[in-house]
Amino acid sequence: MIFCLFLLNLTIFSQSQNYARLPITRENWTKTFPAFRVVGNLYYVGGYDLAVYLITTDEGHILINTGVYDSTKEIKKSVESLGFNFSDIKTLLTMQAHWDHVAELAEIKRLTNAKLFAHKDDVSVLESGGIHQFFNSDPFKFSKMFCGAVFEPVKVDRHLKHGSKIKLGKTTLKLHHHPGHTKGASSFTFDTFDNGKNYRVLIVNMGSVNTSRGVKLTGMPLFPNIAEAYAKTFARQKELKFDIWVSSHAGHFNLHEKYKPGDKYDPQRFVDTEGYKEKIKHYENTYLEKLKKEQEKKQND
Ligand SMILES: [Zn+2]
Repeated sequence: MIFCLFLLNLTIFSQSQNYARLPITRENWTKTFPAFRVVGNLYYVGGYDLAVYLITTDEGHILINTGVYDSTKEIKKSVESLGFNFSDIKTLLTMQAHWDHVAELAEIKRLTNAKLFAHKDDVSVLESGGIHQFFNSDPFKFSKMFCGAVFEPVKVDRHLKHGSKIKLGKTTLKLHHHPGHTKGASSFTFDTFDNGKNYRVLIVNMGSVNTSRGVKLTGMPLFPNIAEAYAKTFARQKELKFDIWVSSHAGHFNLHEKYKPGDKYDPQRFVDTEGYKEKIKHYENTYLEKLKKEQEKKQND
């Protein structure tokens, strides 16, 4: 408790006082990036690294993810720079309930009256403002020291599961449950038309392991089957069929190598199946190495 109070004093309280802000330690999380069209009705409206996607339809728009605290202003600016109305956002989605991707959901929901849909296994994290993260189970770990909400709690209006369909206008997204990074980590696929061609789009949440938060693959009290969850995710991700892929961090799909602000619209730059396979392999190898090390350590203990 002493630790909690001490650290809370170091954080900045939000106006409503219902959560304490974590320090933003990465410059790329607040660096802005001009909005652009990815393919068809899919647009990038996020920052330099934290990806936010806008999917437009005749009956309103879908917004996937937010950035860190106070990113609403930039997201709104980005949406408007493309000629769309921020107030036409009807559905909010999330790929992983970590504060750097969901901090502004409550604010955007308030401003737009949109409904928030999330995988059922991330609901308690979103509704508690991050208190119910599975890595908060050990009182001596960093995250627990904050002892409370780290983003504004937000009500989830619809609970999704693997295979759930999210329909708006003529667009239908399908949720793919890719647990590990968070319990309810999610990817989405949908079809979009562009220039007479149909593109299957994959917006994927990569299976990276949050080592800095003390995540152990061999045993988290609040996520006992975490290793199996990651294994299932990699197996599922290898099976996915798509034409174009993007991800929840720009760095995960090498956005800045594929696109520079001002480049002419060309969906072909995001056709990169080999790059996708390599990334999945990279995260799977990192996971396997960590799991092996932990198992060896357990045997020696
Ligand atoms: Zn994360």
